[in-house]
Amino acid sequence: MKLQAIPFNVPLVTGRERTYVEQVISSGKFSGDQPFTKLCSEWLEQKLGCQKALLTPSCTHSLEMAAILANIGEGDEVIMPSYTFVSTANAFVLRGAKIVFVDIEPQTMNIDSALIENAVTERTKAIVVVHYGGVSCEMETIMELARKHSLLVIEDAAQALMAEYKGNPLGTIGDIGCLSFHETKNYHCGEGGALLINRPVLVDRAEIIREKGTNRSRFFRGQIDKYTWVDIGSSYLMNELSAAFLYAQLEEAEKVNEVRKRLWVQYREALLPLVEKGWIEIAEIPEGCSHNAHLFFLKAKDLEERSNLIAFLKKAGIGAVFHYIPLHSTEIGRRVGRFHGEDLFTTKESERLVRLPMYYGLKQDDIEQVVKAIRTFYEKHWGVKG
Ligand SMILES: *Cc1c(COP(=O)(O)O)cnc(C)c1O
Repeated sequence: MKLQAIPFNVPLVTGRERTYVEQVISSGKFSGDQPFTKLCSEWLEQKLGCQKALLTPSCTHSLEMAAILANIGEGDEVIMPSYTFVSTANAFVLRGAKIVFVDIEPQTMNIDSALIENAVTERTKAIVVVHYGGVSCEMETIMELARKHSLLVIEDAAQALMAEYKGNPLGTIGDIGCLSFHETKNYHCGEGGALLINRPVLVDRAEIIREKGTNRSRFFRGQIDKYTWVDIGSSYLMNELSAAFLYAQLEEAEKVNEVRKRLWVQYREALLPLVEKGWIEIAEIPEGCSHNAHLFFLKAKDLEERSNLIAFLKKAGIGAVFHYIPLHSTEIGRRVGRFHGEDLFTTKESERLVRLPMYYGLKQDDIEQVVKAIRTFYEKHWGVKG
């Protein structure tokens, strides 16, 4: 049997994207807030039950909008995990914030909610949570704490569309949620994002910030007869071609989610014997979290073993990757932020983590092949050591 190469990711294509993109070309309307943008926004608002969903060019842009909406200014502190993508921090650094990094829980790789309160100072303005792999942070504790200290909660839900915490969709629990439609995410349009506004008082200003600081949205709704510059802002609109592509994916979201979750369970079941041997660790999903199978990770013993495993899988034609380099360990991270408390898990756990191929279209055979390769690696590895 010839082994097929198994890439790390294959971006989703459901089939209807071409038809919808052609409709946009025929319509001659390519800019923001045209029919497909409206369809996507309505889909998100209905599916998630949020006040307002605004499509943006990326989750990075959504986070930047959130930082403006949160009125983050020079010297304000923003609490977040260090184990995250750079945009989570950059958006707030751009407004002059000091980033306060808090350690993660090893099981989920999410911010440890029990450590947040101790990091709050009188300069703290917001908590940014990252739902790693679409598995929710401990939102009940976090929201309670935020209310107590009058802090805004911004959810970096880049990976979390279709995932829930105690029945509530991720991205709709905090004050503001940020979604990504980058091609590496479960639903995409190449590059894209959405801003979810969960507090009515923030809606008007969010629309203004997205329209270059003008009240153009109100003008289009006929609420005013001229539009003008009223606030700071930028061009944070998604173009209609992207929205058309995205809508074809949202329509299939339920089906895609089911398939991904099935693949996730197959990985888990196939890897459990290796866990029982003590070779690797895999995630346990906390109670109350309904995840979206955005990714499947395992943990090797340490950095060296991880590097060897990834190299071994690569030779076997299997794309496995790691991420993120903790933000506080970088030069800029040290300049714009500080790690509050002890880094017990962020660095250590990030160095052990390996992400396995995970995409709609992955086959059970592929999963078996990946797991077989991992088993072979450990049998050899242990053989050498033993
Ligand atoms: C992908 C991702 C982002 C950035 O999303 P873009 O749409 O590429 O800007 C931000 N945060 C997290 C946690 C992500 O996974």
